Amino acid sequence: MSPHRPILEALERLKSRPADAPKPIAVYDLDSTLFCTGPRNLAIARAFSKFRPQLRPYVDQLESHRMGWNVMADLQELGFSDKNVLTELRHFWRATFFTDHFVKMDSVYPGAVELVQALRKAGCLTFYLTGRDDPGMRPGTLQALASAGFPIPSSPEEQGGDVILRLKPTWEEEDLAFKIQVFEELRGLGEVILAFENEPPNANEFLRAFPTATVVLHATIHAPDPEPLDAGVHVLDNLAGPWIQATALQ
Ligand SMILES: [Mg+2]
Repeated sequence: MSPHRPILEALERLKSRPADAPKPIAVYDLDSTLFCTGPRNLAIARAFSKFRPQLRPYVDQLESHRMGWNVMADLQELGFSDKNVLTELRHFWRATFFTDHFVKMDSVYPGAVELVQALRKAGCLTFYLTGRDDPGMRPGTLQALASAGFPIPSSPEEQGGDVILRLKPTWEEEDLAFKIQVFEELRGLGEVILAFENEPPNANEFLRAFPTATVVLHATIHAPDPEPLDAGVHVLDNLAGPWIQATALQ
């Protein structure tokens, strides 16, 4: 069975949806779900190594597509062990990772743009729900979405639009708590039929809140020691499904 089948079935169901059914919504996380943060983490490590040249030989061995969830751990695995420098890098990372400048360095996972476009074409409202913060990262996020070819909101207010970008109101807010708060807004907008996440606890919360939705965990990287994934969440190694060809043929 194709691993992408749950998404294809959801696409198929959209075709037979009654005209008066609540608007279907597809919800997408951004970091490590649609966007690969490896190039961003690598750029941050390179920028920091200008201040601490002893780190440079280790940073030079990093590869953007093989970076883990934690760049400090990646460097330790390569044999770098100066705890003070790693602590400094952690502070530097926290100050730079969630910024417009570095966010634009992300790459896009293969098939992600085509997937979002295919679901939009099938009638879904596109709802980006991210732990990035507003206003700090809205301009960079919009630029990154647009330059990759993702649909973007048509107006700053997004009222009544079919593409919505929802970011955290403050950097400090906890990601999952923020996302759960947005569930009410989603219920008011229509019916969540698909949700994409890379963090197992977030995927679980989606399925618990929207049990009829197809919830997909994109198995990229995630925070350490997550809770077990609920049985109903679909796990995908990649987003490169048949929608790539469908888009290419248009
Ligand atoms: Mg994420």
